[in-house]
Amino acid sequence: MSALNNLPVVVIGAGPVGLAAAAHLHERGLSFTVLEAGDTAGAAVKQWGHVRVFSPWRYNIDPAARRLLDEAGWVAPDLEALPTGAELVADYLQPFAELPRLKPHLRYGARVEAVSRLGLDRLRTAGRESTPFLVRLTDGEEILARAVIDASGTWGTPNVLGASGLPARGEEQAAAFLEHALPDVLGADRARFAGRHTLVAGAGHSAANTLLSLAELAASESGTEVTWAIRSASPARTYGGGDADALPARGALGSRLREHVDAGRIRLLTGFSVHALTPNKGRVTVVVRHADGTDEQVVVDRIVAATGFRPDHSIAAELRLDLDPVMGATRALAPLIDPNEHSCGTVPPHGVDELAHPEAGYYAVGMKSYGRAPTFLMATGYEQVRSVVAALAGDWQAARDVQLDLPETGVCNSNPAESTGSDSCCSPTPAAQAPGKGLATGISGGLLSAPLNLITLDAAPGQTGGCCGS
Ligand SMILES: Cc1cc2nc3c(=O)[nH]c(=O)nc-3n(C[C@H](O)[C@H](O)[C@H](O)COP(=O)(O)OP(=O)(O)OC[C@H]3O[C@@H](n4cnc5c(N)ncnc54)[C@H](O)[C@@H]3O)c2cc1C
Repeated sequence: MSALNNLPVVVIGAGPVGLAAAAHLHERGLSFTVLEAGDTAGAAVKQWGHVRVFSPWRYNIDPAARRLLDEAGWVAPDLEALPTGAELVADYLQPFAELPRLKPHLRYGARVEAVSRLGLDRLRTAGRESTPFLVRLTDGEEILARAVIDASGTWGTPNVLGASGLPARGEEQAAAFLEHALPDVLGADRARFAGRHTLVAGAGHSAANTLLSLAELAASESGTEVTWAIRSASPARTYGGGDADALPARGALGSRLREHVDAGRIRLLTGFSVHALTPNKGRVTVVVRHADGTDEQVVVDRIVAATGFRPDHSIAAELRLDLDPVMGATRALAPLIDPNEHSCGTVPPHGVDELAHPEAGYYAVGMKSYGRAPTFLMATGYEQVRSVVAALAGDWQAARDVQLDLPETGVCNSNPAESTGSDSCCSPTPAAQAPGKGLATGISGGLLSAPLNLITLDAAPGQTGGCCGS
């Protein structure tokens, strides 16, 4: 065994996937340290603790973690029940992290600032693969590692509100009116929304969750108004597969949202790309720029930016990463999850080979591995870390025997018109889904095939203003 192999594997993040990695490392007899920035296991999940997930317990428990918990006499929850984020932490992640065999290897309040190779910057090649990783914490402590499994998620780096991927004009100045995704509308944050007008921007599960809570609030608190803004021309993808969804809770989310919109309890604005925000007398004016160059304004009290998340690769800036330019995932994984290409978010099973970077021994897993794709499920991450840890243990046969069994969304189709509504204009027709072993991962897949009302510069007479203008 080389000296490198005497060092621990460092896992960054004690979320569901980081802890699953710990379970597999323990089972394989590899030494490890989990570094968690928060003060508890599942620190990010805790922040959306009031949200009920749509995948039942049986998809949310890692098999290796389950084996260790069972040995310790853990009583498993009803595998068909749907936990809230808080229950996921209290009934699974926390008891797992407290196991005497695991606990000594977990450190809290340990935020990783950077990862490099000891004595080597990104430029140096000679001896690289036999040189330990150097993991630096924000307090300056440095830890050496034989490999790094980065399961730090994306919760800390939400997307901006502005339409171009850049902040909208005035977004910073309007920060006091802006909410991170998934505020606790019916609980701790109720007072900020009761009797006020809230705009929710976004078309994924987070937006749907917040909209449903706001609609419930509006039923009991007079003066509460709800507006939902999406960039695409149709909400069809957010409404999802309804009864055809293999996860009924996921299907019901979209169906309930549709009922509120149809009944006028939620006002829907389509083709809504936020251009500018202007605070004005205790409220905020949201300006939308339309395809024909005209502006429209909505004045609201609060804005919930449920516009998704992006990975922060800056901690690995001194490592040799090969990232797909679109997704910010590895190049091998990106085409499997790119919502521009997949009408249903189908993802074939994938593991260590698809997650590898030129920097041998560094793997981004879990939510972070998906880059900007919005369709990640815990079960996907559990299989990723099983495969990665098997490879680190030298068991390449197990590492490459990748299996994935995910519930279907019921929204897979190869007919873009169905997903975009009647105004589907000339968006490219996504190829019919190739039959494969993988199953659909979320209702947001295919969202990007919906046409946006693009903004054109100096639109000449006769130009349509963005959708197939040439
Ligand atoms: C509201 C919501 C509902 C979801 N519902 C489902 C569902 O029903 N089913 C499903 O399968 N998936 C669901 N997901 C998607 C996904 O499975 C979860 O987000 C899951 O928590 C991802 O796990 P993770 O371990 O990859 O990341 P996270 O849970 O985000 O954990 C990352 C951890 O890393 C820590 N960290 C971050 N940066 C650093 C650093 N620099 N140093 C040290 N530690 C750091 C964080 O504090 C955090 O504890 C949902 C996500 C959200 C947001």
